[in-house]
Order: sequence, then structure tokens, then C-alpha cells
Amino acid sequence: MEHFNPNRYAVISEKNPREIVMLRGKGCSWRRCRFCDYHLDFSADEHANFILNQEQLRKVTGIHKKLEVINSGSFIDLDASTLSLIEQTCLEKEITQVHFECHWHHRDQIRDFRKRFAASGIELKIKTGVETFDKLFRESYLDKGIDADSPKDLAEYFDEVCLLFGIPGQSAQSMEADIQTGLSFFERVCVNIMQENLKPVKPDPAVIAIFTENLYPKYIENNRVDILMENTAFGVGGVTTHVK
Ligand code: SF4
Repeated sequence: MEHFNPNRYAVISEKNPREIVMLRGKGCSWRRCRFCDYHLDFSADEHANFILNQEQLRKVTGIHKKLEVINSGSFIDLDASTLSLIEQTCLEKEITQVHFECHWHHRDQIRDFRKRFAASGIELKIKTGVETFDKLFRESYLDKGIDADSPKDLAEYFDEVCLLFGIPGQSAQSMEADIQTGLSFFERVCVNIMQENLKPVKPDPAVIAIFTENLYPKYIENNRVDILMENTAFGVGGVTTHVK
């Protein structure tokens, strides 16, 4: 998608300081979530993806020894050359921890990647977009494609979760329960506030107001909770919705 020209590199200085790159892969293989157009940032042209990714990875300095890599979909949707370059960049810049995103469907491939990077002294932290732990709401309304029965099942594979708030039907109680569950089972929680896009699920301003008034003040200082009121809050993105 050459007409997309988002910012793809940033340094996050607060809470778990790290560099972040938004790379491009072949795209999310699920693409059904009813709130997401983030998956539009993809290309089937592996070489073009690698060139774009190489340009971003060149900017990485290793300043915080941690790197977060996001891409529309899962990290395994990145081409093999890009994955190798991430590993090589970490070795060159003495980065010892990499955060990747991954959909539930690819959970069985995570273990081998953990082993591969660990052999180079790099710890992987894998984040998944669960959006909410309310399975019925998540699957019947959002069509997220996660058939895990419990947070414990998810925690067997993933270290961190993203939650999506500001959706019609959510309440202070439901959002608080999701954050608490996230903090109980996972190392970190990233709250994304829903932003309007062309997909059918729209943000509910009343739910966002409830979050802003009741939950934001309570969790904004929590070092294990990232809160993205805008989808560009990490300094990357800008043309599409980052919710995963
Ligand atoms: S939220 Fe993630 S899994 Fe769902 S369609 Fe978007 S990129 Fe794919």
C-alpha cells in the first residue's frame, strides 16, 4: 500500500522505555475483526516490504536495549529476511528484549521463535490483542477469532495483552475487570481506545468518557499499563488504526 506513509519509528521514553518500529508484512491472515482496518498496511511484495523494513530498522540505536516491533497482523507475517535483520540489528545494537505481536491462531509457532532468539541472547515478549476477556462479547460482536476459554489458556503462550475500550456495550465494571484480569495473568497490559474507521464497529463516546473519568486516572501511573487514547500515541502510525 504505497500511498500509506505513516511514521514507522519512534522512541518511547516513559514506562518500559523502548524503541518501536512499525514494519510491513504480508498482512494479517485473519482480517475479520469488525473494528479493524489496521490490516490494510500490508503488501504481498516481500522484497518491497524488506526494503521498507530495512529503512526503519536502520534507525534503531539500541538506546534502551529494548525494541518493540509491530506490523499489521502477527510477527510471523514478516518476511524471513526482515526477521533475520531484526535479530542482526539486536545483536549489533546490544538489544536484549524484543516485543512482537501475534494472533492466537499462530500460537504454536511462538515457541520456536523464542528458542531461536534466545540462542542469540534475545528475550521475546509476545503480545496479543485479546481486546476483552469476555469471550461471548469478543467473538460474537468483534469476531476476534480467539477460541481460548480462559485467560490462563492465553497466558500459556503470551506475555502481554492489548485491550480495546470505547466499544458500545462496555461499562466501567467490564473495563476494570478486563484490566484486572490482564494484570493478573500477564506482565503488561496495553489499553487502546477505539477510534473510528470504516469498519462496522464504531466507538461509543459515552464509554470513552466513562473510561477517561473513572479508569484513566486510576491506571495512568501504573508502570505495567500503557494507555493509548490515540492510536498514534506511541509515535508510530498515523494513517490507519492500530488496535492489535
Ligand atoms: S485486529 Fe489484528 S487480528 Fe484482527 S483483523 Fe486487525 S490485524 Fe487482524
